[in-house]
Amino acid sequence: MEEKMEIIRNCHLITMDRANTSYENGAIVIEGEKIIDVGDEFSVTAKYKDAETIDAGGGIVVPGFIDTHTHSAMTLFRGMADDLPLMDWLNNHIFPAESKFVNREFVRDGALIAAAEMIHSGITTFLDMYFFQNEAAKVFKMAGMRAFLSEGLINFPTPDMKSPIDAFDYVSNFIENWLNDDLISPAVAAHAPYTCSDELLVKSRELADKYNIVFNIHLSETENEVETILKEKGKRPTHYLNELGILK
Ligand SMILES: [Zn+2]
Repeated sequence: MEEKMEIIRNCHLITMDRANTSYENGAIVIEGEKIIDVGDEFSVTAKYKDAETIDAGGGIVVPGFIDTHTHSAMTLFRGMADDLPLMDWLNNHIFPAESKFVNREFVRDGALIAAAEMIHSGITTFLDMYFFQNEAAKVFKMAGMRAFLSEGLINFPTPDMKSPIDAFDYVSNFIENWLNDDLISPAVAAHAPYTCSDELLVKSRELADKYNIVFNIHLSETENEVETILKEKGKRPTHYLNELGILK
């Protein structure tokens, strides 16, 4: 079956290709799910006479934005305990609220809001660290977004993992469920150097390597973290992780 062809025209097109090409009166040709041509509107529309056209109203058209760090379902905690130092916010507000409220439904609803907001602001791809990512994966797939989803591994019980030991089976299951999906890419997350033991950090990295998938972690977020790790480990957080072999 022939794929449907569409042209987005009447736009200032910024391609972000290597030569940084842009077209003041540009057009994009899409066949099925793929962009097959871009260029000056006049020459593109002449080349694909049968395609349906979408008028972009003279707006700017750019490739989708990529957000490299999100906790998408936390849309439901927005405004809670704002403007506090990170450790106070996490330990006295967010971690307790997560253990009380976060479950499958919470993640599904929070992810739905996040999907709507990201699409509205032009984000098409993102890297997320949170819990119940199987639920989030279903939401983002339905929304047509590209999502790198990781379960936050941490040294205390979380809403969906009773201990870091159970966590590895749970996370491996999640990874295997989505490994070959065209939109969802499973990833591995260790929460941070100040919430994960050496063993957990090393095992998390090994898990990412085993499946050849993205690894992500919070690192050197605050002055307090740098001072604490320096005191406990005798080195700054980045050196500490590097010596553990996490940053390769
Ligand atoms: Zn974060």
